[in-house]
Amino acid sequence: MEEKAFIQIARDFADICERSGLHGLLFQHYVLCRRRAWFHMNRVDYAHLDQRMQRGLALHDKSKPRDRSVEGLLGLAPDRIDWKNSIVIEAKGGGGAVSAVSAQTAFYALMLTSATGRQWRAINEIIEAKRRREVVVDIEMAQLMLDTAKKLEDLANAIEVPHEHSKPICSLCSYRYICGEV
Ligand code: SF4
Repeated sequence: MEEKAFIQIARDFADICERSGLHGLLFQHYVLCRRRAWFHMNRVDYAHLDQRMQRGLALHDKSKPRDRSVEGLLGLAPDRIDWKNSIVIEAKGGGGAVSAVSAQTAFYALMLTSATGRQWRAINEIIEAKRRREVVVDIEMAQLMLDTAKKLEDLANAIEVPHEHSKPICSLCSYRYICGEV
């Protein structure tokens, strides 16, 4: 019964993501900061100016090559997929903010659940620490992701960038050069 409800939430989630063009990285940004998510949606991207981001991207590129079976898959781009066990794997340079990284990986699990009609699990591979971290994608997480998708859909229609207060993540944020709030 719970799996059926989970799959229905995943389908509602996928419908919103598909009609509004939402992708996994947007969920990561949104958990950290709405303003940052808005910048990313509007293609304002300064990651190339940020040394920490460059290092993370380089580590990611040097990790195990992307699984070819994910190419062209529903417009998704997770790093690897274990089709037999219904597990999606996303590699990250460092651990990052757990809730934000988890949201990106949960996005893939929900989209795959919607597409295949069976419940998927999600794992983050932390490259620097050489370890794996399971993302709990249960019904509560699925509902949280659905709520976030609705908020992101509203944000996609916002003409003006939302205001945010300065917070600890700001000193590490690649958008701090243009943010205007810090
Ligand atoms: S610098 Fe801070 S407020 Fe500005 S986008 Fe980044 S996290 Fe958000």
